Amino acid sequence: MARYLITAGPTREAIDPVRFLSNRSSGRMGYALAENLASRGHEVMLVSGPTNLPCPEGVRRIQVESALEMLESCVQEWPFCDGVIGVAAVADYRPKSASQKKLKRQVGEDLVLQLEPNPDILATLASTKGERLAVGFALETDNAEQEALRKMSAKRLDYLILNGVEAQGATSSRVELFHQQGERTVLGPADKKQLAIDLLDIILPVS
Ligand code: C5P
Repeated sequence: MARYLITAGPTREAIDPVRFLSNRSSGRMGYALAENLASRGHEVMLVSGPTNLPCPEGVRRIQVESALEMLESCVQEWPFCDGVIGVAAVADYRPKSASQKKLKRQVGEDLVLQLEPNPDILATLASTKGERLAVGFALETDNAEQEALRKMSAKRLDYLILNGVEAQGATSSRVELFHQQGERTVLGPADKKQLAIDLLDIILPVS
C-alpha cells in the first residue's frame, strides 16, 4: 500500500482580518479522490483549503487557509509520500501586505490592492519527485489543450487532468486526461465520485 498527498479546495488570501481573495472551488474532486484512495487501502494525507465537506473516512486531513500555509504543510508531508495529486485551486496571487486592522471605506477614493504571486505548490513538490507519481488538474477557458500540455511539462507531471469551467462547484464533470507519454483519455460527464474511481484506475501504478 502507498501513501498519497492530495491538495484540495480553494485557498484564501487575506486582505485584512475579515476579508480575503478566493475562488469557487468546492473541493469535491479532491475529496472524492482522497476517499477512493483510502477505500483502496492507501494512506491519504489531505491538505485542504476551506470547504464545507466532511473529512472522508480513513483520511488524515490538515486544514489550511492560504497558499503559503498549504505549501508549508505539503513540504512537510512530501518526503513521506509516494505520490501527489494537486487538485487545489491555489490562488495565483495574494495581497502583498495583509492589513492587521479592518480596512475602512474611504468615500470617493479607489482602493488599490497590490498582489504578489504565490508559489506553485505542485511544481515545487514535483521538482523532487524522482520516480514518484505527480498529477495535476487544470481548468482553462482558452487554448485548453495547448495549456494542459504546457503545464504538464512545466510542472513535470505524469498526468494532467483538464476540467471544463462548468466543473467548478458542480457535483459532476467531464474531464480529459493527458498522459505524459502522449496518450489521452476522455472521462465523463459523470459524478465526481465516479470520475475519481475511473481516474485512479488509470493513474495508479499497478502494485
Ligand atoms: O493554476 P494552474 O492551472 O497552474 O493549476 C494546475 C495545477 O497546479 C493544479 O493541480 C493545481 O492544484 C496546481 N497548483 C499549485 N500551486 C499553485 C498553482 C497551481 O499546486 N500556485
